[in-house]
Amino acid sequence: MVSSVATAIDPEIQAPAPDLFEVAVQQFSLAADVLNLEDSMRQLLSHCQRELTVNFPVEMDDGSVQVFTGHRVQHNSGPGPTKGGIRYHQSVTLPEVRALAMWMTWKCAVVGLPYGGAKGGVTVNPKLLSQGELQNLTRRYTSDISFAIGPNQDIPAPDVNTNPQTMAWIMDTYSMNVGYSAPGVVTGKPLALGGSEGRFEATGRGCVYAIEEAAKTIDLDLSSARTVVQGFGNVGAIAAELMAGLGSTVVAVSDSSGGIYAPGGLDLRAVRVHKRRTGSVAGFRGADDVTNSELLELPCEVLIPAALECQLHAGNADAVRARIIAEGANGPTMPEADAIFYDRGVLLLPDIFANAGGVTVSYFEWVQSMQWYPWTLEEVNARLQTIMHNSFTAVHSTAVEHRVNMRTAALVGAIDRVVDFTRLRGIFP
Ligand code: NAD
Repeated sequence: MVSSVATAIDPEIQAPAPDLFEVAVQQFSLAADVLNLEDSMRQLLSHCQRELTVNFPVEMDDGSVQVFTGHRVQHNSGPGPTKGGIRYHQSVTLPEVRALAMWMTWKCAVVGLPYGGAKGGVTVNPKLLSQGELQNLTRRYTSDISFAIGPNQDIPAPDVNTNPQTMAWIMDTYSMNVGYSAPGVVTGKPLALGGSEGRFEATGRGCVYAIEEAAKTIDLDLSSARTVVQGFGNVGAIAAELMAGLGSTVVAVSDSSGGIYAPGGLDLRAVRVHKRRTGSVAGFRGADDVTNSELLELPCEVLIPAALECQLHAGNADAVRARIIAEGANGPTMPEADAIFYDRGVLLLPDIFANAGGVTVSYFEWVQSMQWYPWTLEEVNARLQTIMHNSFTAVHSTAVEHRVNMRTAALVGAIDRVVDFTRLRGIFP
């Protein structure tokens, strides 16, 4: 029997929902003003080229059938194939996926990759599904969007609640449909299937490379700095560990169940063990429990929001005490908060730069998959570091030149690049 749409949704965890695409267009417009961009180009770049929504059935373990809704949006294919993650979350909506796709276009341009932006998502709380159900959902969603993706067309990757196993199922499903192995169709695959050394850690690692550069410009010694991380998943947990590796004291981390705070520093290895055992960082002994909103206002020098959107806004931006905010997550800061941070001299490293390490190493993985020729971890990390450092220098000098914040500066460089592609290619037919 078919039951109602997407019933595997946990009603308790619903993110606040401003229209994220409006936020993305607002940010775009600020940079378009700096570039004096003409109306026709603004219109073209502030729309997504392709939007696909699929409603598809999944057979559950008890024999029932549920219908889920998924999206794949491609913002701009001018620079090359489109690229962007797939997320499984109960709050996924089409406007959110549109915003994330647009940000991907700018992100790829900030770090100079030959890609346009895309994003995908399924509205589901994956924690309520078994592995078998998740595999069924992933394979059917992949099949339904398969005509729109491909190694030279649009290349998905992991995002919130998806991982190397999800990418393996996508790669296999796509390969079964085309009749040959196509490892270049996704990145973030397991190593054995053509994944790249260093991909799993790349977003957190790139974020920390960005923080290192930012710290130099404000004379912040990271070895005596305190770090707070919101979100202890792929990006947040790796960033926390690498910050600790630089000598920084990681005083607080959190996940969807809440946060923990220890002014003297957290034992991250013990926090991982606790999370593996209990499913959450909350309740960790030797630290105080804090809410996710309290966590953002804790005393620290470096704040890494690495969970979801809309966390920093007009209501809490004045209370944030960090000197550097590095957006591990996509879209954690609302435009009003951007303005407040800029006025207060807080150095905010925007998502389209700070978390670009993930797509950068995804690009490396794609190159390796297309050539069937793996690189070493040292090669991957060294190239990533060079790209993050050079991109910081470029974004920072644009910010200084135009007297704008780092987000607008990153957008100015990125939009300029995509405008170049668009002008040179012309309008078809
Ligand atoms: P993940 O699923 O591995 O981790 C997400 C973490 O956030 C989990 O610890 C989860 O419990 C926590 N979380 C969820 N809701 C929360 C809430 N309301 N408050 C606090 N914590 C909450 O996902 P990820 O891959 O680490 O992605 C995190 C962010 O980074 C997302 O915005 C994603 O788009 C962005 N990002 C990820 C990558 C990547 O390579 N994985 C690349 C670029 C950007």
